[in-house]
Amino acid sequence: MRIPSIVGDAEQQQYTEALESGFYALQFKGALESEFVAFYIQYQLRRMRIAGIVAVLLMACFIVVDATTLPAHVSKWTMGIRAFAIIPAITVATLLTLWARAKPYLVITSSIAATITGLGIDVIIGVALEKGAALPYEGILLVILFTYFVSCLTLRAAALANAATMGGFLLVEWAWQADAQLRVYHAAFVIVANIIGALGCYLLEHTTRRNFLMTALLTSLAERDELTGLYNRRMFNALAGRLWGQCQRDRVSIAVAMVDVDHFKLYNDRYGHLQGDEVLRAVGKALQGIARRPFDIAARYGGEEFVILWYDVWEYELDHMAEVLCQAVSGLAIPHEASKHGVVTISVGVALSKAARRIELSTLLSEADEALYEAKGMGRNRWTLRYDGLPSDMIE
Ligand code: GH3
Ligand code: MG
Ligand code: MG
Repeated sequence: MRIPSIVGDAEQQQYTEALESGFYALQFKGALESEFVAFYIQYQLRRMRIAGIVAVLLMACFIVVDATTLPAHVSKWTMGIRAFAIIPAITVATLLTLWARAKPYLVITSSIAATITGLGIDVIIGVALEKGAALPYEGILLVILFTYFVSCLTLRAAALANAATMGGFLLVEWAWQADAQLRVYHAAFVIVANIIGALGCYLLEHTTRRNFLMTALLTSLAERDELTGLYNRRMFNALAGRLWGQCQRDRVSIAVAMVDVDHFKLYNDRYGHLQGDEVLRAVGKALQGIARRPFDIAARYGGEEFVILWYDVWEYELDHMAEVLCQAVSGLAIPHEASKHGVVTISVGVALSKAARRIELSTLLSEADEALYEAKGMGRNRWTLRYDGLPSDMIE
């Protein structure tokens, strides 16, 4: 009996497969790419903002340089382009980093700002050439390198912006650069700056992608139980603690089901430990299928014990839900000759905390544990319930 991999396994598998693939094209498959893009923006958000502020300050410094070095009939154009096209574009892109809803578009908006900056500098160089002013062309190299290394854009976005910048520059030089030798040199330097920048940016993004996969894999390994792929006890405690606070605030009820495989020691003795492991996998998978709503949590609590947390449940639903749990496992029909039931079964203890009940999560867990032992005492392959700390038969 080999049960297909489930939650944790599948999650970890996609990260290891991506790591093994080498992702040389800087692209992950399917949903992993969207997960990466979301991570990337979160990771780069502050850096993008700082890069934007630095770019605006540098541009402002160049306005001062233009005012002091260029003749007025040229500087009115160069300063105008810097002040009314480049600085506003970078400012808007930088301000957008403060707006949560703009997050998915930040790479695009920053790439547009980089393109406007590049084209703006192209025009500045063109104006200076056309009016015969001695303005160095090297500014364009700074824009290209800033876009690749400081703006925190992905390689694709940076390369697109820089391709536009380079195209504009080559056009300007072709139209207004009178010195044919300089034209060749400038074109060569701009092309080489793009190649160096693109290579460096590629290596940076490749490293960021590797970090993303490693972090995601390690997080998953730390949160999941290796055998079943369910959350481990540590993660259960963390998630349940958070959910507990939420449910007290929202005044909704919450239920905990403690699950224990019946006569599992006998199963191991009869069929061996490895086969026992397969049973735990199968039980884990069945339980996961029952805690499907977004806030529900299923976890391996330890050994052959599992725990399920149901958020916002009604008292009248619990009997049915516990029954479904027991049937989900007995329905697997895994032979267990040493048990009187003939198949692997579980016992379940459920405790409910209604909205108004101000208790600790640990109290609810021990009530569920007591209910579980009651179910064991009553012959196993069954469930008992506790509402508000009282056994269900004491509720009228
Ligand atoms: P009960 O019906 O009262 O729960 O009886 P039980 O035999 O299931 O309970 P007991 O606590 O006596 O035994 C639990 C067994 O679960 C003993 C232990 O070897 C086994 N077990 C715990 N973790 C694992 C595991 O990861 N793999 C396997 N194969 N067995 C495990
Ligand atoms: Mg046990
Ligand atoms: Mg047991």
